[in-house]
Amino acid sequence: MTDMTVIAASGAQLPESFAGRHLIDGAWLDSADGASFERISPSHRVVVSRSAKGGEAEVLAAIAAARAAFDQGDWPMLAGKDRAALLNRVADLIDRDRERIALIEVLESGKPIAQARGEIEGAADLWRYAAALARTVHGDSHNSLGPDMLGVVLKEPIGVASIITPWNFPFLIVSQKLPFALAAGCTAVVKPSEMTPSTTVILGELLIEAGLPAGVVNIVLGYGDPVGAIMSSDPRVDMVSFTGSTAVGKRIVAAASATLKKVSLELGGKNPQVIFPDADLDAAADAIAFGVYFNAGECCNSGSRIIVHQDVAEDLLDRVAKLSAKVPFGDPLNEATQVGAIISDAHLQKIDGYVQQAKADGARVLTGGEALAVPGLGGQFYGPTVVAGVTPDMAIAREEVFGPVLSVLTFRDEDEAIRLANGAAYGLSAGVWSRDIHTCLNFARKVQAGTVWTNTWMDGFAEMPFGGVKESGLGRELGRYGLEEYLEVKTVQMRVARGRSPWVNDG
Ligand code: NAD
Repeated sequence: MTDMTVIAASGAQLPESFAGRHLIDGAWLDSADGASFERISPSHRVVVSRSAKGGEAEVLAAIAAARAAFDQGDWPMLAGKDRAALLNRVADLIDRDRERIALIEVLESGKPIAQARGEIEGAADLWRYAAALARTVHGDSHNSLGPDMLGVVLKEPIGVASIITPWNFPFLIVSQKLPFALAAGCTAVVKPSEMTPSTTVILGELLIEAGLPAGVVNIVLGYGDPVGAIMSSDPRVDMVSFTGSTAVGKRIVAAASATLKKVSLELGGKNPQVIFPDADLDAAADAIAFGVYFNAGECCNSGSRIIVHQDVAEDLLDRVAKLSAKVPFGDPLNEATQVGAIISDAHLQKIDGYVQQAKADGARVLTGGEALAVPGLGGQFYGPTVVAGVTPDMAIAREEVFGPVLSVLTFRDEDEAIRLANGAAYGLSAGVWSRDIHTCLNFARKVQAGTVWTNTWMDGFAEMPFGGVKESGLGRELGRYGLEEYLEVKTVQMRVARGRSPWVNDG
């Protein structure tokens, strides 16, 4: 489409391809069978990285190392103060290496450089926040159980955590999990997505530089099968923390059930934003554009489902369509770019399939709706797209498109708006736009979502818990709850002062 704002290739110098190896028990290793895989940049079509491809031998060795570090190592019992010091050192190293990490993140994921920098900066903040939490781990005491009884509730690290992450925010998402697991005293095996392995490897380098003992964090590169599958089923693993698709999340629950592991899941979303007629439409339109085009819509939090009051629908859509044409997309290495490449060609086909199906079902494409070439780049891009006239039964209204595609539904009254908002299998996040606080509060209380935004979208803080209800997940990350996920409760009951009265009368 000619009316889009396309940023052509900037001709920036690309780095040498990154060589990634597994981190197992403090050593960087290739796979025993020599297998490896390549990641081709979705924007520049160059080989960004060559990584060792993990098999059964690597996963089993990594789990054994994490188990030994937990059972025999110092980490679980180390003072919170010392764990905090190490996490803070990691945060400083992340800041030091921000440019290097951001560049690889851009080339592996296709996201714009400015957003990658923001992601790395946000990740460093999470390491610092978790460091602060490491000094707050404490349980409870019960001094009212009777004259000769004292009860103590201990909080203990849960053990070995398997951490499996997706490709859309590779560095941020591992940082929503790993520092919290470490703050709690857990040891870990980490598997990044096969699409974006390299920034997790860099994180491993920084952990070693910061002084983390061998075996506390192990990284295995490779695919869901066999690496992720073994990490989810091996009896030596106590917990699986997973972010990714709902389909894989369900497989992980099944794999973990044989040994009843704790499972924490951050899954997909079909997040509604409801716009009431009294809303500030300019502010809403901008947040809608941000919500659906940020990270090319490849966000679990994508505000991909707009439910707008019929009286203001045309006005709002007009504003959103105009903004859509202005969003600069194209070369992710250009500082001005706000929408980069789509992660893979297969994923682009899937996105387009939803749009074409919606058209065939009677929806109207107001803007975008097709793959676009960016001059000078061979990668895959999809234009910012608005699809109006969507009805709740259409796939585009119910399923996660995970691309820069907005679906627009309309409502007549508040009850219908809430019914539509809750009419999805997902329940990750939701938003409401109104100048009336009562409308906002009523929506916030009735909507089925882990996070609700009122008159804003996708703000996030280390302090605020994040997670989903329904098929969007189990458990919470961030905030105090993000630490609690990695802690187990132990009850200690102590008889003090006087002895027990005998149960058996022995005369
Ligand atoms: P995915 O589920 O395909 O893969 C995620 C990870 O799981 C990858 O590392 C993959 O190799 C691994 N995996 C695949 N099969 C596995 C198996 N059988 N056992 C164990 N691990 C396996 O997801 P994706 O395509 O990488 O990411 C996109 C999805 O992630 C979207 O659905 C998105 O909504 C979701 N997501 C959710 C959040 C959140 O916080 N709720 C955040 C980001 C992404």
